[in-house]
Amino acid sequence: MSTQHKRVIFPGSFDPFTKGHADLVERCIQIFDYIVIAVGYNENKDGWIPVQERVDAIKMLYANEPRVTVESYSCLTVDFAKKCNATAILRGIRTVKDYEYEMQLADVNKQLSGIDTLLFFANPQYSSVSSSIVRELAHFGKDIQPFLPEGLHYSKTK
Ligand code: ADP
Repeated sequence: MSTQHKRVIFPGSFDPFTKGHADLVERCIQIFDYIVIAVGYNENKDGWIPVQERVDAIKMLYANEPRVTVESYSCLTVDFAKKCNATAILRGIRTVKDYEYEMQLADVNKQLSGIDTLLFFANPQYSSVSSSIVRELAHFGKDIQPFLPEGLHYSKTK
């Protein structure tokens, strides 16, 4: 059996990073040796939280977990996965809608790179948590802290 360390990449917008994302990281680090949380951004489109702040906030959250690193990228996910020497791509599924999208994405990514996608079902307690709902709540002035991992704060919600 190979003793090589296994690294997985967890790509997403993480705009913002939620308790659902954190739950996936926690479960996946039990299987893999290293996780790279890869914050994807579009050079022509600003997100809700600036990408550097997204990266810094997640880094701070995992400051005491050397097996979790955080990086931003704007290229194709599989190209970034190769650059990271990742053995697999981690994604999550909350609904049937997620399933259909993730299946197509996984299929294309596998064809392009040979890299497999590892799909985790959402923990039922987080299956309704999404970054877009959190953004919507913030827009209407609601407290979004209950949806974010403990200790994670963004300047616009302080
Ligand atoms: P993207 O912008 O690429 O859709 P997101 O940042 O929204 O990415 O999410 C990254 C991954 O995490 C996706 O695979 C998404 O399905 C998954 N995910 C998001 N929220 C949850 C959650 N509450 N539970 C499980 N998986 C989730």
